[in-house]
Amino acid sequence: MAQYKKINVPSNGNKIKVEKGKLIIPDNPILAFIEGDGTGPDIWRASKRVFDCAVEKAYKGNKKIAWMEIYAGEKALSLYGKDEWLPDETVDAIQEFQVAIKGPLTTPVGGGIRSLNVALRQLLDLFACVRPVKYYPGVPSPMKRPQEVDIVIFRENTEDVYAGIEFKSGTKEAEDVRKYIEKKSGKLIRKNSSIGIKPMSEFGSRRLVKKAIDYAIANNKKNITLVHKGNIMKFTEGSFKEWGYSVAREEYEDILITEDELTSKYNSRLPEGKIIIKDRIADSMFQQLLLRPSEYDILATPNLNGDYISDAAAAQVGGLGIAPGANISYSTAIFEATHGTAPKYANLDKINPGSLILSGVMMFEYMGWNKVGQIIENALKKTIKSKIITYDFARQMDGAMEVKTSRFADEIIKNMK
Ligand code: NAP
Repeated sequence: MAQYKKINVPSNGNKIKVEKGKLIIPDNPILAFIEGDGTGPDIWRASKRVFDCAVEKAYKGNKKIAWMEIYAGEKALSLYGKDEWLPDETVDAIQEFQVAIKGPLTTPVGGGIRSLNVALRQLLDLFACVRPVKYYPGVPSPMKRPQEVDIVIFRENTEDVYAGIEFKSGTKEAEDVRKYIEKKSGKLIRKNSSIGIKPMSEFGSRRLVKKAIDYAIANNKKNITLVHKGNIMKFTEGSFKEWGYSVAREEYEDILITEDELTSKYNSRLPEGKIIIKDRIADSMFQQLLLRPSEYDILATPNLNGDYISDAAAAQVGGLGIAPGANISYSTAIFEATHGTAPKYANLDKINPGSLILSGVMMFEYMGWNKVGQIIENALKKTIKSKIITYDFARQMDGAMEVKTSRFADEIIKNMK
């Protein structure tokens, strides 16, 4: 085990191991957590109580989490010193212990790190951002039939314009790049332009689509949609689509069928055990999610499309307050609240902990502790139905009783069978 300066590794837990690509979860796994900045501590405290109680309910003391705090954001600065937004040992600990969960983190202004979340994704090669979006009855939604939304978005997490390769207008580098591109492509770029690079690789696209397909198979989903803007960006987004279809053809020929094959070979009826792979242009996908959401199960998208689509889809079923997410590599995974630090509510015990709690549900499913996830999800559903909820939902629901973050967690715990 690595030596850490500030991280206390709990002595009552065991490390999650990986054997032949599979996680081996002990009965007392050490799980790393970052409580987060702003409202992070409020929602973390509430969520942790919910998690511990659900584990106890599910396994009657035979399994128990050994929580291990690791640091990032403002708490890391105060513990490790100036500019230590993301200490090396935090990244090392996630790598060593495999599974972590985090609250939201302040984005540093200026300095070397653009975003802690992007840095974590890149340093740990967490190439898939997974965002399930589904409706919980009673949640206020702008949709007429929000119950038709039940999708899981797999967003590529390491490439595309998020690679952070940009040249600022007026610099020598930008000028050199401008001239180079003009020479190579014959296309003119205006002087004093800032230039960003959009790399999308065959390797990166294929492994993301593969992850989405494996999830679809494991969870009995009926279709996967490659979302791209390949009509305009032919060699980046267009290739994403092509590489996606080639993974399907080369590695899943016996399971996946295209929309064309569905009509030509199967008379438009999906045979048992088959999954459709299709593609949609990104702008049309936004319409489809509003007008025909029931036709979509899994979306596989490049980085930027996925960023936009996941927030828009979350809004359809009640917003970021209850939208969970995860960033996953081959075995390492960080589960996270998808909203920001909501700093104006910090330490007021006010905001909705649902996003972090449902990220915990994803984490337990990832660990194979599905029973725990089910207990939490059912109790959350029951609590929302009872209309005893935090301000964000209460302000949009008739007859609701607004409660604090901690009381909302109490209600969820009370509703656990
Ligand atoms: P934000 O923190 O997500 O908050 C924006 C608004 O969304 C809040 O004022 C609140 O709306 C609502 N909201 C967010 N989470 C909520 C919850 N759990 N329950 C109820 N309402 C919730 O976005 P921001 O103000 O743009 O960002 C603040 C900081 O967080 C920035 O430093 C940003 O870079 C960072 N950030 C971090 C992450 C991350 O760590 N994953 C993600 C995004 C942003 P009302 O005002 O209407 O009540």
